[in-house]
Amino acid sequence: MAGIYIHIPYCKQACHYCDFHFSTNLNTKSDLIDAILKEIELQKHYLLGETIETIYFGGGTPSILSTQELSTILQNIYENFSIGENPEITLEANPDDLGQSKLEELKAAGINRLSIGIQSFDNQILSYFNRAHNSQMAINSVWNAKQIGFQNISIDLIFGVPNQSLDALEKDLKQALKLSTPHISIYGLTIEENTVFGKWEKQDKLTPINEDLAAEHLTLIMNTLAASGYEQYEISNFCLPGFESRHNSSYWHRKKYLGLGPAAHSYNGTERQFNHANNIKYIKSLNSNELPISIEKLSIEDQINEMILTQLRLKEGLNHASLKKNFDFEMLVERKDHIQKFLQMNLLEIDGNFLRLTSNGKLLADFITEKLII
Ligand code: SF4
Repeated sequence: MAGIYIHIPYCKQACHYCDFHFSTNLNTKSDLIDAILKEIELQKHYLLGETIETIYFGGGTPSILSTQELSTILQNIYENFSIGENPEITLEANPDDLGQSKLEELKAAGINRLSIGIQSFDNQILSYFNRAHNSQMAINSVWNAKQIGFQNISIDLIFGVPNQSLDALEKDLKQALKLSTPHISIYGLTIEENTVFGKWEKQDKLTPINEDLAAEHLTLIMNTLAASGYEQYEISNFCLPGFESRHNSSYWHRKKYLGLGPAAHSYNGTERQFNHANNIKYIKSLNSNELPISIEKLSIEDQINEMILTQLRLKEGLNHASLKKNFDFEMLVERKDHIQKFLQMNLLEIDGNFLRLTSNGKLLADFITEKLII
């Protein structure tokens, strides 16, 4: 079983915190879609005939494409790959794109999961982020999607915004819970260098929140969502029973996937392939029948570290027996000193084959992970 990811590298406007690959110039859009179709054809054997169980349109802003454009890509995927019986087909979408007719078209085109980039319900924060929507548009997009029959809906939120009080965060969470979407992803704001926020930080116009306050924010999130029945199945991802993201879970469990579009990457079990993160270069390469890729052969150490980095964030934790079986790496021996210290501090726990973060450990996940990787 494998997955396909399609990166749509366009956005209406640049959010001040974002360092994903995207362009606000849509002039290349139709050439880029042709290039994606070409890439599908050239890469149809990459997954060696494995059945595809998830398809994920990410970005950028995939909802910026017309439904016709999305359908053409989907149709080509169906024609070139073997698709499972009940695939999860996700579209990342922004609230300002989700009018009623667009939602109806998306549903008819086969999209069965929406991941809506809401980020906050606070209009001040939304304009600080330079988002293209406001709070009411965010709320309407979810209600409309539900009314049209989308059952599998996720919303994205951001916490740890400079000057965001715990009260403001609580208000955001309450509003999110009122919408009762079955999945909520919530990420701490990170200030990346090549963004407007990165520039403001350098100019002392922005001060990131400190670690203690970030930990208070995360504690509030974990407690509030748990009280409403959401399970934290990954540090940043919460869902009602049965609504885990199948696509993202497959990354964390190291299943194979093919990434299409600029800046997408692929994994076939031993190698990672990276597509050019440049729209023009990507198009030119495919126009010459060449794959727009660079290949990184993963060393054993890379694979061990990838497993530690992703699986320690999961509810079930890191399968140390699998590390031993696949890579002959005895985690509990090799990292004995750190692990014992974290066990004593109630930051880690061991349960059979699994080493997992406790609730306190989740607040220090990055620090703990850094000590455990090789
Ligand atoms: S956060 Fe999303 S909508 Fe905003 S610039 Fe980045 S990819 Fe585009």
